[in-house]
Amino acid sequence: MVRIRPPEPEAIAEAAELLRSGKLVAFPTETVYGLGADATNDVAVAALFRAKGRPAHNPLIVHVAAREAAEPLASFDARARHLAERFWPGPLTLVLRQRSDSPVSPRATAGLDTVAIRVPAHPVALALLRAVGRPVVAPSANRSGRVSPTCAEDVAAELGEAVALVLDAGPCPIGVESTVIDLSDPDRARILRPGGVTRSELEAILGPLAEAPTDEKAPRSPGRMRSHYAPRLPVRLDARTVAADEALLAFGDDVPKGALWTFNLSPSGDLAEAARNLYRALRLADRSGARAIAVVPIPTRGLGEAIRDRLARAAAPRPDETVGLEGA
Ligand code: AMP
Ligand code: MG
Repeated sequence: MVRIRPPEPEAIAEAAELLRSGKLVAFPTETVYGLGADATNDVAVAALFRAKGRPAHNPLIVHVAAREAAEPLASFDARARHLAERFWPGPLTLVLRQRSDSPVSPRATAGLDTVAIRVPAHPVALALLRAVGRPVVAPSANRSGRVSPTCAEDVAAELGEAVALVLDAGPCPIGVESTVIDLSDPDRARILRPGGVTRSELEAILGPLAEAPTDEKAPRSPGRMRSHYAPRLPVRLDARTVAADEALLAFGDDVPKGALWTFNLSPSGDLAEAARNLYRALRLADRSGARAIAVVPIPTRGLGEAIRDRLARAAAPRPDETVGLEGA
């Protein structure tokens, strides 16, 4: 059985000790639950890749408790300092040039000369990072390619014995992953993954930004697989009607009738609420007895960009059949 503990001080101290001794610990962040490992420990990072079934070429995000703890890892230019000041702690990951004396394991960065760093805003994540006193890699606590967990039970269902302890602080308040922005080119900032910080919030500081790359070969985002966040069932996007054997994810008050099972991501049309519910809804739809999942059109504004990105990847052709069957 997976050990799940509420995030009392004693449990956080235990989790920190486990991380420092090279074990894997799952913990809540404001985005999704992360699977943590000591970023400076090669063996722990290798174990994390194994536990997730994650390809070694997909680099991890390094989490620290404050900007001061990020500075020994990477060089911050004026843009990076500005963004860190404005959005940390919070759902923004900065891809920066790594410092040559960085203690982060090269496995964590997939051997790149850049490193992705974030200071999460969840109080439990921050308390844990402070107690560990080292950078912690923390990808979503799910098998690679699958739906991210937004509660402790979903972590346990995904990872089982591989995780030494799960800190349970209830559902995640944002529900989709951080925005990843690449600042490694001094002349050009690029969003690699839309997420909890919106494009317009970033553009207010940096000016117009290029579109997120969507193809697997995009050199700067080695981990951006086309199929990702995939439930077991096939996903159909922009549905305006629904079949009797489909599970429906709706949004707003215009809900197509006739689905086998319906989950409204936000009856009031609130994109933050829809983001919070998205992964839970995909997991529930998988268990609804439906043949497929239909999703109504989601607006592109604000957090809609991140939701649409996740749904597009959930709907993409799966690389091989076994991905769709995992966890069935
Ligand atoms: P995940 O841990 O699966 O939520 O995803 C982390 C994301 O950050 C992936 O899309 C990675 O490709 C991206 N990432 C992490 N490190 C780097 C890096 N050094 N350069 C570019 N992208 C990165
Ligand atoms: Mg993930």
